[in-house]
Amino acid sequence: MARTAWIIPLLLSLALAWTSLPCFAWSNKEHIQLTRIAVERLVADPSTPDAFRQWLRQVTPGLMDMAGEERFFLHQTVGESARGYQGLLHWATRPDDLAAHERNLLVKPFGVPERKLHFVDLELLLPAGHRMGYRDDLSAKPSLDDIPQDINDPRWKEAGMLPFRVRQCYQRLVECFRDDKLHPTHEGDDDHAIRWAGYLAHYLEDNTQPQHATVDYKSQSYFADRRHAPNVHAEMEYRMVDEGRGEFLQLRKEFWPLFVAALDLPDPIRTNDPWRATLEVSLLSYDALPLIGHAAKQATNADNTLNTVEFFHFQGQLRGHPATVLQMKAHQTAWAVLRVQRLLLSAWAESRGN
Ligand SMILES: [Zn+2]
Ligand SMILES: [Zn+2]
Repeated sequence: MARTAWIIPLLLSLALAWTSLPCFAWSNKEHIQLTRIAVERLVADPSTPDAFRQWLRQVTPGLMDMAGEERFFLHQTVGESARGYQGLLHWATRPDDLAAHERNLLVKPFGVPERKLHFVDLELLLPAGHRMGYRDDLSAKPSLDDIPQDINDPRWKEAGMLPFRVRQCYQRLVECFRDDKLHPTHEGDDDHAIRWAGYLAHYLEDNTQPQHATVDYKSQSYFADRRHAPNVHAEMEYRMVDEGRGEFLQLRKEFWPLFVAALDLPDPIRTNDPWRATLEVSLLSYDALPLIGHAAKQATNADNTLNTVEFFHFQGQLRGHPATVLQMKAHQTAWAVLRVQRLLLSAWAESRGN
């Protein structure tokens, strides 16, 4: 007994370290903020239908203006638990909780655990015989025509099923809007528009994280010693945004105006089909992977620690143009806001027969 007593806390802490591995998404802080900003923009838009605007207001506590959002971004720490965030914001963070804590439960109708619904590893969708790992020259990226449409194609279970999950959440949301399931009707009721809108927002946001489109999701291929490589996934997502007591304040101050400006750019996706659009977003986002990889390599010291400020200031190429990692992240996260706005609105319109 005495010999094993110390093992339990050790196992517990290992289990916690494991379950909190940030592989699933943008950080809780970003999911909350990107979703809330999408709602604020819909509420502020005079062309938003009144009944939809009213529902958005009811289900999203704590709406603010962009000055409030800037303060939240600069100074608020959220961490790994999004407890305290209600309504739509609760549901927008829920998929990452499930991914961390329900590792073996298979989600219907997909037959994969929750965590496999947050990404799509594009390299694995190439036809058999053409498959390779991630390549810096992007030669392992499939074209849209290579990608199987059949959900039962065995490649999907391995690659991750984000496009199917987005389509399901969108369809369930349309149905809940149409059937007037706007709020839960009893304790434990989780088939209502708030849940599906929050889920949809979550997965749409994951969709613009370039590392959610590749087998090389930690950009380890850029390091000779992959095992000791820094966690570049965590750097891309939560570290600068939600960590470091004041350490990254300057970086956040540089980021915010880039993000706000990028909210004015158009969504380049033409199709309204959620499945196809998700793949198009992944394919476009994939192009940012070399920039992330080169920046990570450049910013990492001999002892394998990554300098976050250098990482975000690194300037490389993105689709033939110079870009810093900070600019790219601002662009990708602003794009997530636009995607959430667009699909929530379109689900409402579709439910009303428009
Ligand atoms: Zn992630
Ligand atoms: Zn996620």
